[in-house]
Amino acid sequence: MYLDQSNTAVQIAEYLADVRERMDRAARRAGREPREVTLVAVSKTHPIEAIQAAVAAGQFDFGENRLEELWPKVEQARALGLDQIRWHMIGTIQSRKTRDAVGPFVLIHSVDRMKVASRLSRDAQEAGRVLDVLCEVNVSAEASKHGFTPDELLAAAPALLELPGIRVHGLMTMAPLVEDPEATRPTFRSLRQLRERLAERFPQADWSQLSMGMTNDFEVAIEEGATIVRIGSAIFGARTE
Ligand SMILES: *Cc1c(COP(=O)(O)O)cnc(C)c1O
Repeated sequence: MYLDQSNTAVQIAEYLADVRERMDRAARRAGREPREVTLVAVSKTHPIEAIQAAVAAGQFDFGENRLEELWPKVEQARALGLDQIRWHMIGTIQSRKTRDAVGPFVLIHSVDRMKVASRLSRDAQEAGRVLDVLCEVNVSAEASKHGFTPDELLAAAPALLELPGIRVHGLMTMAPLVEDPEATRPTFRSLRQLRERLAERFPQADWSQLSMGMTNDFEVAIEEGATIVRIGSAIFGARTE
């Protein structure tokens, strides 16, 4: 199953090195320090062996988009002694599943509406936790996309920042799927500008993180200020689902 679906361990190490090198070059082009950008390796649909290979190659941040897949992987990783892993939840959370998102995750990138934010906060509080989160923004207000529109987020921010069970650290977006990565630049730039407006209006909160950029567009995202990129297929291989 492993060899059919995912890259081999040797390929994963090679592709990781290649991605890191491309990230470093993009950061330098923009006059930034490469260490300002964190790589989250998106392991969704790929088995624990692929994650294990990436850990062996020095990769410790992993992202998954479905809680039903994330939890078993957390358990598998634990059983294998892969204790250095930092898990990121990057996918949509259904409002009735927020309880399952209170877990050993370093960052939830995908708080996409007020209902999810308030339920997460409630569930986190019940568990005696405060969750570190990003707000997902639908920059171009595409109907098919999740996330706050920029205006919705500006309006919701006062209430959002009052929620005791979550702590906001910045923004996340997904650019439209386009062939030419250059076409994603306005989306990434808009997210950065929104971050600047939020930081000005709500200086009491931390807006430092910009989670943006995937396999097809991460170099443009880094040039536009990404602090976290989420990369799957360039590391683990194409997904069948
Ligand atoms: C799948 C996924 C990614 C990674 O996509 P690739 O194109 O494989 O790099 C990044 N972010 C989110 C939210 C995803 O669901």
